[in-house]
Amino acid sequence: MNKPNYSAYTIEELIESKESINRDAWPERFIEIEDRIQYLIKSSPAEKAKYNELVFLNFCESLRTDLSYAVDDDILSILRLFSKKAEAAIPSTFQGEVCPLCKGELEVSYYSGSWFSFTRGWLLTCRNCNTEGIVEQYQHR
Ligand SMILES: [Zn+2]
Repeated sequence: MNKPNYSAYTIEELIESKESINRDAWPERFIEIEDRIQYLIKSSPAEKAKYNELVFLNFCESLRTDLSYAVDDDILSILRLFSKKAEAAIPSTFQGEVCPLCKGELEVSYYSGSWFSFTRGWLLTCRNCNTEGIVEQYQHR
């Protein structure tokens, strides 16, 4: 198998490779990917911003999957129809989660869309990195 030329990869491709690579089988490639990412985010603020956004987005996506398996959240979404108090309740999925970028504390709040969007979910904010993302709720049909 030819060795991939990571220096030609975009930041998106590097993140994808980092998440899919078998770290035990290819430890030196993993380090190479990590080094390349560090190089890109240190040399360009735009690349760093893109990196932060993508990592946070992936993090939100993975939580979304967890959330869909959490039973208490189904109950919460029903209660939310009747109660303002339940609206403020935070699903257990988010407890103990920290920012994927800085390991800092995350602020979690219920997000109920805006005039142009029907997205419902949870807004996660890291004040430290100034990054935020939405964990969308699966719509029950
Ligand atoms: Zn952070």
